[in-house]
Amino acid sequence: MVIDAGSGIRSLGDELLKSGQPVYLYLLITHSHWDHILGFPFFAPIYRRDTKIWVDGCPRGFWGLEAVFDSHQANGFFPVAFNELQAQIQPLGIITHRPLKIGEAVVEGIELNHPQGGMGFRFREKDHTFVFLTDNELDPQAPPGKQLIDYAYFAQGCDLLVHDAQYTPEEITERRGWGHSTYAEAVELALSAGARRLRLFHHDPARSDAQIRELVCQARNLVTARHGHLEVDAAREGEVIAL
Ligand SMILES: [Zn+2]
Ligand SMILES: [Zn+2]
Repeated sequence: MVIDAGSGIRSLGDELLKSGQPVYLYLLITHSHWDHILGFPFFAPIYRRDTKIWVDGCPRGFWGLEAVFDSHQANGFFPVAFNELQAQIQPLGIITHRPLKIGEAVVEGIELNHPQGGMGFRFREKDHTFVFLTDNELDPQAPPGKQLIDYAYFAQGCDLLVHDAQYTPEEITERRGWGHSTYAEAVELALSAGARRLRLFHHDPARSDAQIRELVCQARNLVTARHGHLEVDAAREGEVIAL
């Protein structure tokens, strides 16, 4: 199972092909904004006949993957059109209606507070749960979307919550309605949900590593001030987390 097709999917493709086995995967798309789909043309398994990809998630996710080739990258921007790809790539459209079962795992979706919408995911396998919510605004005043309490219910007792934490509380006052959250709101959600671990995600592109480390310190201070039991860190490329 792979979430989204941003720039990171390029190195994932190379890694998957190293095994020499055919690539079969579920690609779950949160939404079709550029930063979540622009890596797809550079995902090497899509150029192989033995690859099978089932696409689910937000209703316009599959359309977004097609559009990244056909409306933007074709016609002189990219040498390949979507229908020329060798892999079998099929839309499923299940999670909008009911949980998607993959082996022993169950994937459920929740609507996000984000311009043009989006979908967050909860993955359950045996007694382990992972919740992924990015491009989500947790401002409790933001109508008419879901409230923090709805997301806390969705993420209840999860082993790992990955949540959007693009801004600081100072920065977000100018950026309400942009569909992102602060690290403080992400901590608030994780504590309300009783999550074991939180990874701050969707870092602002202008942020340096040192600034990210500072945000993590501030987030940990919030947890300490609340006497919470929550491991907080910044999501980073290549990290492996065992649930
Ligand atoms: Zn977005
Ligand atoms: Zn985004």
